[in-house]
Amino acid sequence: MTHLHPNKVMRVVDLINSQKKTAFSFEILPPLKGTGIQKLYQDIDSLCEFEPKYINITTHRSEYIYKDLGNGLFQRNRLYRRPGTVAVAAAIHNKYGITTVPHIICSDCTREDTEYELLDLQFLGITDLLLLRGDKGKHEPSFTPTGNGHRHALELQHQVNDFNRGVFVDGSEMKVTNTPFSYGVACYPEKHEEAPNMETDLYWLKQKQDAGAEYAVTQLFYDNEKYFGFVERARKEGITIPIIPGIKPFKKLSQLSVIPKTFKVDLPEELTHEVLKCKSDDEAARVGVEWCIRQCRELVAKGVPSIHFYSLGAVDSIREVAKEVY
Ligand code: FAD
Repeated sequence: MTHLHPNKVMRVVDLINSQKKTAFSFEILPPLKGTGIQKLYQDIDSLCEFEPKYINITTHRSEYIYKDLGNGLFQRNRLYRRPGTVAVAAAIHNKYGITTVPHIICSDCTREDTEYELLDLQFLGITDLLLLRGDKGKHEPSFTPTGNGHRHALELQHQVNDFNRGVFVDGSEMKVTNTPFSYGVACYPEKHEEAPNMETDLYWLKQKQDAGAEYAVTQLFYDNEKYFGFVERARKEGITIPIIPGIKPFKKLSQLSVIPKTFKVDLPEELTHEVLKCKSDDEAARVGVEWCIRQCRELVAKGVPSIHFYSLGAVDSIREVAKEVY
């Protein structure tokens, strides 16, 4: 007797390419350690009416916490604030039957760590990934690989490509190969902070495409012209893969400085002027929703394959935007 898997899902690249209109997708973070998964399910439930085609789950490296022992000494402890990416991806995949895309990062991982993560995902039937370098540790002045870990997303791609061919990091061969992983990568319409210029950044994006990235997802941006200009330039450099805009509604007054500092992007003058008139976070969120609706309507009108929403702390705003746009 044949059993069809009830949760058989499509690859992200096929989902994007098969869409006649702009698709809806979003990114979630694994819950903070000890807070359970129910709130996350509520967030997903509240976005399900817009028929998300896939859901990304971020990955967070560990950090060091210093405990004051009260005798002049501090104890250094390693903490994962948001553990469980693979488990969360599997839980969502099983509960909702939606394609899940766990983020695989180089930071904090040896090649063997990555290999075991890939094996777990293979057993769980999750075959879509977003491959990233990951953030540097808070204690590091610049990104430093862990042990024999990778320095760039491109090297991680090579490891996944080898895995797809049935070859482990030590050169030994798998006895049984499975559905190969498909993957996307990150890109930056306003340039990655470490790239000396856009030309260099696009050169590496092209290398990521040539090594097998099937699509790229952008860093968030608030000025569509930056995205359109980036896509145009990328096409001239021979980058042909879908470039999916990543969008987050502006949410509160403090983000006027937090967003540029954290994501290395500009806030347009017009948006900034409107936010500066606001007297509360609620008013700022209203402005953010209106701005985001305008952004998304224009992106849809230009026929972008998908809009990918960054949902942390912004689920209610995304609902308001999606109601107007989808
Ligand atoms: P890379 O592709 O390695 O690029 C980093 C820099 O090096 C760029 O300046 C690039 O031009 C250059 N470069 C690239 N390849 C090479 C090479 N082979 N040799 C020399 N230079 C090179 N971080 C997390 O920790 N967890 C997440 O879940 C996460 N999700 C993200 C999702 C999206 C959509 C985006 C846009 C970012 C995400 N980040 C996440 C942040 C990301 O990890 C950082 O921006 C990181 O600094 C760069 O990652 P990357 O994959 O673009 O790196």
